[in-house]
Amino acid sequence: MKNLRPVGKGAFDAEVEGSANLPYTVHVDTAHVRQSYCDCPHAAGTRRICKHMVATVFAAYPQQIDAFKWEVEQAELEYKREEEAHRAELVRYVNSLKKGELRKALLDALIELEERRDRWW
Ligand SMILES: [Zn+2]
Repeated sequence: MKNLRPVGKGAFDAEVEGSANLPYTVHVDTAHVRQSYCDCPHAAGTRRICKHMVATVFAAYPQQIDAFKWEVEQAELEYKREEEAHRAELVRYVNSLKKGELRKALLDALIELEERRDRWW
């Protein structure tokens, strides 16, 4: 990160090192995110957000890093809780099936797996 400088309210310019020889030129506008840009291959000429923009925002607002980490952790915990609840529901469903129903459910699942492989993999 070089030459981080504010260029208006919530807007910053910076040069950020990447995989190219020269650093990327980055502009982030936290009020108008879509006006942010970076000349790296991922973002140049698009409206995509790239890691150089994210790095610039965190360099400009270092106190936001902890808040962001906390939010990511909360989201991950929530996802894990939902996944565990769903898994428990699945276990209850399978345990409720009779032998014939189990055979049919297993066969349907195996056939679906094979069909997916043919279609997408
Ligand atoms: Zn970039």
